[in-house]
Amino acid sequence: MRVLVYDTHSYDRTFLDTANAGRHEIDYTSAQLDPQTAALAEGYDAVCLFVSDRAPAPVMERLAAAGVRMIAQRSTGFNNLDLEAASRLGLTCMRVGYYSPYAVAEFAVGLLQTLNRRIHRAYNRTREFNFRLAGLLGHDIYGRTVGVVGTGKIGAIFARIMHGFGCPILAYDVQENPDCLALGATYVSLEELLSRADIISLHVPLMPQTYHMINAQSLASMKRGVMIINTSRGGLIDTEALIASIERGHIAAVGLDVYEEEEGKFFRDLSDVVIDDDVLARLMTFPNVLLTSHQAFFTHEAMTTIAETTIGNLTDFEEGRTNENLLR
Ligand code: NAD
Repeated sequence: MRVLVYDTHSYDRTFLDTANAGRHEIDYTSAQLDPQTAALAEGYDAVCLFVSDRAPAPVMERLAAAGVRMIAQRSTGFNNLDLEAASRLGLTCMRVGYYSPYAVAEFAVGLLQTLNRRIHRAYNRTREFNFRLAGLLGHDIYGRTVGVVGTGKIGAIFARIMHGFGCPILAYDVQENPDCLALGATYVSLEELLSRADIISLHVPLMPQTYHMINAQSLASMKRGVMIINTSRGGLIDTEALIASIERGHIAAVGLDVYEEEEGKFFRDLSDVVIDDDVLARLMTFPNVLLTSHQAFFTHEAMTTIAETTIGNLTDFEEGRTNENLLR
């Protein structure tokens, strides 16, 4: 099949070319999918998209008109796709349903401990031969109550790691996970979790029901001194409400691998550009906020599985098979 990969970086190409081994005819573009760049897909059977590629209904229509029959999303989250429009237009959509949940869960723990022990600040200090400890005081994680919002593949592994630290686990999900119950996690309502946890980590998908689940009201219900980690999707948090809570000193620390306005910024070097996003600029001024650019998934193991699964999805579609990665 002829496949156009959008939003390509050197590492995407390396892993996809290795997994493809000449099976499909793949072209790469660094352009992100939008109403203009959809025209690039003319003559391709499939497009391969990542989280910043936007495919709402008008873009789906342009892709279909260009002859595209299949969308291979190379991520787990697929909130960038209008599946209803795809269905109407007869476009098959597949994703990577499973790839190293360890990558994301372990990264969430990395953010948590970096913030807790101020390792990001210590790194800068020691490079300038500043060996003072004032300002670097942290807490033992042992015994602190951890709230896991969403106990699917990633949330369950995060819960297991935090259980290993000796933390009581509160969990919230629409469906209880036996692995978490076996750890001794207690399922409670979202309200109870938010009001009791010392550390809150978000692992639910972004959907209308979860959009801004962390907002002014829910932030106010949290314990003073809480830590919030979000490695899921930026839209789960109302960022302006979060900033107001940080300014009031209510929130002790925030680790964000995702940001609701990350599109067009993350995965790019903007170090020479004047940033016109005042919310992002404000976030970067807080010493107790650690922001990374959607890198939680980014391990060798995850990239290998993402590439192999994406090529497998393309091949299954071409050969008329379906698999568990079918979205519609
Ligand atoms: P998953 O589907 O295994 O788990 C999601 C869990 O959320 C499920 O248990 C589901 O029951 C629960 N859920 C769904 N809707 C809910 C609701 N309204 N209220 C409460 N619970 C709800 O997904 P996963 O593999 O664990 O991934 C979780 C999220 O992590 C993805 O949706 C994606 O957005 C994000 N992610 C981020 C990165 C990154 O690099 N930062 C990488 C991969 C995934």
